[in-house]
Amino acid sequence: MSRSADLFQAAQEHIPGGVNSPVRAFKGVGGTPVFFKRGQGAYLYDEDDNEYIDYVGSWGPMILGHAQEDVLNAVRSMLDNGLGFGAPTAIETEMANKVCELMPSIEMVRMVSSGTEATMSAIRLARGFTGRDKIIKFEGCYHGHSDSLLVKAGSGMLTLGEPSSPGVPASLAEHTITLTYNDVDNVRQTFAELGDQIACIIVEPVAGNMNCIPPQPGFLECLRDVCDEHGSVLIFDEVMTGFRVALGGAQAHFNVKPDLTTLGKVIGGGLPVGAFGGRRDIMSHIAPLGPVYQAGTLSGNPLSMSAGLAMLNALDADRSVHEQLSAKTELLTQGLEAKALKHGIPFTTTAVGGMFGLFFTDQAQVTTFAEATACDTERFAAFFQGMLKEGVYLAPSAYEAGFMSAATSEADIDRTIDAADRVFATLK
Ligand code: PMP
Repeated sequence: MSRSADLFQAAQEHIPGGVNSPVRAFKGVGGTPVFFKRGQGAYLYDEDDNEYIDYVGSWGPMILGHAQEDVLNAVRSMLDNGLGFGAPTAIETEMANKVCELMPSIEMVRMVSSGTEATMSAIRLARGFTGRDKIIKFEGCYHGHSDSLLVKAGSGMLTLGEPSSPGVPASLAEHTITLTYNDVDNVRQTFAELGDQIACIIVEPVAGNMNCIPPQPGFLECLRDVCDEHGSVLIFDEVMTGFRVALGGAQAHFNVKPDLTTLGKVIGGGLPVGAFGGRRDIMSHIAPLGPVYQAGTLSGNPLSMSAGLAMLNALDADRSVHEQLSAKTELLTQGLEAKALKHGIPFTTTAVGGMFGLFFTDQAQVTTFAEATACDTERFAAFFQGMLKEGVYLAPSAYEAGFMSAATSEADIDRTIDAADRVFATLK
């Protein structure tokens, strides 16, 4: 038995399902989750000393690759001062300044400790600011696991086949209106009927929790328009896309300005961080400036700030990173498509900046939740397992985006495509 299998068995005694986050359990792909002990650059090393080319990147933050020297050094130099004080530190202002500089729609920003906290707080703020209760989200988008947002969500909710979670009161869920991603008529009609009751729209500007689905031209612009017309707050959840699809996030890539933005794992460089920010007049409603309450003992933790800031500084210093990420992602997705075609496997891909999606389908393009969930998940599982044996670590679910890192070389991508050539041959 592998050490991963032994560890997984042991983990299940006192950890529900043996994991601290559901998708890690490999439910969607079968088999035993891999237990990792180390990451370096583009690679992960498991407890059995196998090496993998990693396309998960800790679910997004490892834009520069694992154990990147600038990031580690920043944490090392902070470490000797202590681990946190629950009081203001200079580095929090440095971080706020950097975030506001790189994402100009953000005039004020509050740090939290996870993406879930960021979206939950942004929703409360939008409700407090507008005095309205209803919120709009899109089917298959995942915004963390707070009650209002755990309605028809993506990510692990999709992987486990649970459309909604027990424990979310119906009286709360009824304020969440779920619409179809990329369907502007659906949005316009809902606003025509209920516009004056809608506090906000929250959206992943590139959907990364139902595989990877980019916004169709005009979709984000439509959301901006209806929010302007009806006095609702537009929230871009850039927990995945922020600083990844472009230095200024998806809002820079697609040139649509939200009122509030939520950020997450990416700004922690791998340590636990989240943030929400945006228009000064809205953010001024947050305590202690205003009446909308939000707080956190570990918020702005100096170690997390130092890791995140080092990564943002490194990205800012080398403006070619995002261009390279896009080019490498295209190289990978085009290479995979060509091999699938060679073997007669119905397959298509999406790519935006350093994010990508892999779809086992005979449709030329996947643009909706219905199309994403109609894909062949069994074939994905077989592909995933084959690639894993070849030493390529993809997201262990058909409903998660893939992530490219700056540390991934063209040679790594060639090896990945060669591996896919062999694996596609077994899928017939
Ligand atoms: N929003 C998006 C778009 C996410 O992808 C995620 C997590 N994958 C979250 C929010 C929640 O973040 P966290 O897991 O840090 O709570």
